[in-house]
Formats: sequence, structure tokens, C-alpha cells
Amino acid sequence: MEKVNLKDLNFKELENWVKDKNWHKFRAKQISKWLYNKKVSSYDEMTDLSKDIRNYLKENTEFESLKLVSYEKSQIDGSIKFLWRLKDGNTIESVFIPERDHNTICVSTQVGCAVGCTFCYTTKDGLIRNLTTAEIIDQYLQVQRFVGNENRISNVVFMGMGEPLANYDNVRKAVQIMTDKNMLDLSNRKITISSSGIIAQILKMYNDPEFPQVRLAVSLNASDQKVRESIMPISKTNTIEDLMKTLNSLPFKTGYRIMLEYVLIKDVNDTEEDAKKLVKLIGKNKKRYKVNLIPFNPFEESDYKRPDEKRVEKFQKILWEHNISAFIRWSKGRDISAACGQLRKKELNNFIKIT
Ligand code: SAH
Ligand code: SF4
Repeated sequence: MEKVNLKDLNFKELENWVKDKNWHKFRAKQISKWLYNKKVSSYDEMTDLSKDIRNYLKENTEFESLKLVSYEKSQIDGSIKFLWRLKDGNTIESVFIPERDHNTICVSTQVGCAVGCTFCYTTKDGLIRNLTTAEIIDQYLQVQRFVGNENRISNVVFMGMGEPLANYDNVRKAVQIMTDKNMLDLSNRKITISSSGIIAQILKMYNDPEFPQVRLAVSLNASDQKVRESIMPISKTNTIEDLMKTLNSLPFKTGYRIMLEYVLIKDVNDTEEDAKKLVKLIGKNKKRYKVNLIPFNPFEESDYKRPDEKRVEKFQKILWEHNISAFIRWSKGRDISAACGQLRKKELNNFIKIT
């Protein structure tokens, strides 16, 4: 039988699990403190648990769900890409992104992706499987241990491999563990879920009282329906018009602006006309959105090209002229292809090998 992994349990479930064992209720808090606050790497370090309990945990539960295969550090900006092996042999990646006043981790939620965006490396082999909650949480814990406490990771972006809202239950639980005061205790405002824009799933998330409120990013990537369909097949059923209507109707809270992500691909969606159409799409709802322009990151098997800097800046300028907040995200770790959305199970030659 598969062993239970305690990082698959939110706090309520952990309390019930502890209760089932006839242990005192406060054991749930103790275990959480060791796992999520102290971030220990073994049960032996949980010194205020009795030996019997520690032995029980050792024998009956799984501790690590990931094994570090290799990592690579960017010489440009210090971001670090990690490659992990899962129990079943599949591999996934995470990226640590140091910023001026905080650190961010970009986590994966699936092995591969079923959505099939034509510019995305992750989806080339389709979807292999969803990650478990523990596999998502362990990315955070292991990277935090790797970079040390002096580099506290306060921000999480669900922008790695996979479509988070297609792995709804496990992602929801990961967000519960991340925001629970007894567990990782991260700020809701510092967690961002990025979706390709599956309308039904976005609505489900917003109407779900069990889903902690976090930030939403939506990969719009085009302002024209035909263009979007050609790069994001999901747009045939989740049209730009319906998507924008949905986003405009979501309850709006200051400090939780929706991020519209827009991958700029040369001669596909990067013209002045495209920018003007985007202005129109946003219309009166300028305060509700901020736009994140991501110059396309080329990869070997793709014919798409990155637009030159001038084009990218012109696109941004048009948005600015209409008082739309727009940032250019010159991808972190370009030299190690650590760009979010560019992650894919692959062992690179220049990785530092661990095993
Ligand atoms: N599936 C989710 C989250 C993962 S992709 C989503 O699509 O939002 C995260 C971001 O990376 C998305 O905005 C996606 O459009 C972007 N992306 C994918 N491939 C890219 C590439 N080759 N270059 C630049 N950005 C890319
Ligand atoms: Fe999947 Fe996001 Fe890549 Fe599209 S961009 S294929 S949704 S990971």
C-alpha cells in the first residue's frame, strides 16, 4: 500500500489523522511546526515527539516526495533552476528567483500539460500526470532548505510546468498549506496562480469558500480571437470575449489586481494594432488589471522568434499612453532556460549533477 505523505494533508486533515492514531490533538501543531516552520529534513529532528511516535512516522509515512537530480544557477541574475525526480521516475522543475527585496519560487503543478499552447515547451509531450500536493509543497520546502534561511522565500508563483487549475484539488490544498497559520504561513497576497484562462475553473475557484483568496494571473497572450486561437487552442471554447467578461465580473479587491500575461511573439501578436486591441479589451477596467509583457523565450524545436527590444517597448508604450499598468518581464535565468513556462522534464548537460 502507498504510504501516506503528511504534506498531502491540510491542517484539518492532519488533526484528524493524529486523532485516528489516538495521539493528543496538539501533535498536529507540533508536527506542522517541524515540517513547515523549522523545515526539518527528517523525523529524527522532531525532538519533542516521543520516540514511539517518531518511529511510527518513519515506518508508516513517506517523508520526501522529490529527489534533487541537478540544479543550475544563472550567471545573469542568480536565479536557480532545480530538476527533481519523482517517485515514479518522472522529472519536474522549479525555479528560485531572487529579487531586490524578496525571493520568489516558481512551482510546477503537473508533469507536462494538456493545454497545448503552440509557444510552450512544457506541453510538447502532452500531460503525463498531476502532481500531488506533497510534490508541490516539497518544491517549496526543498528549495528553501537549499538556499538557506537567510534567503526566505516569501512569494510563490504557480507558473512552472502545467496548468494549475486543471489540477484543482491538489493545487487548492497546496495553497491551504501555504497560507495556514499553523503551516507555511505565507501571505495570500504573495501567492499567484497563473492560468491559461479556463473560464469554468476560474469561476469554480472564486466561488469556492475553501480556496484561499490568492492572486490570479491569466495568460491572455493575444488581443485578437483568431490569433489567440492559433496559439492557444483552448481559446476556441474559452473565447477572449467570454474570458474578459468573466474576469470583469469577478469580485474586485484592492491589492489583488488581475495580471494579464502576454507572451510577445515576433510577427504573431506583437504589432501596434495588437497593442491597441488590448487597450480596447481592457476598456474602462484599467484599475482591475496589470499587464505583464513576456518576450517569447525561444527554444530549439520552435520556429517562433522573440521580437526586438524596440517592438516590445513600443507595445508597452501604447499601453502606458492609455494609463494601463504594464511591465516587461525580461525572463529571469535566460541563460539557463529557467523562464517560467519554458520548463520541461529534461536533463541538461551543463546542470550540476547531484546523483
Ligand atoms: N499553465 C499556466 C501556468 C504555466 S505557464 C499558464 O499558461 O498560465 C506560465 C507563463 O509562461 C504563461 O503566461 C505562458 O504564457 C508563459 N510561457 C509559456 N511558454 C513561454 C515561452 N516560450 N516564452 C515566454 N513565455 C512563455
Ligand atoms: Fe500549459 Fe501554460 Fe504551457 Fe499553455 S502556457 S501549454 S497552459 S503550461
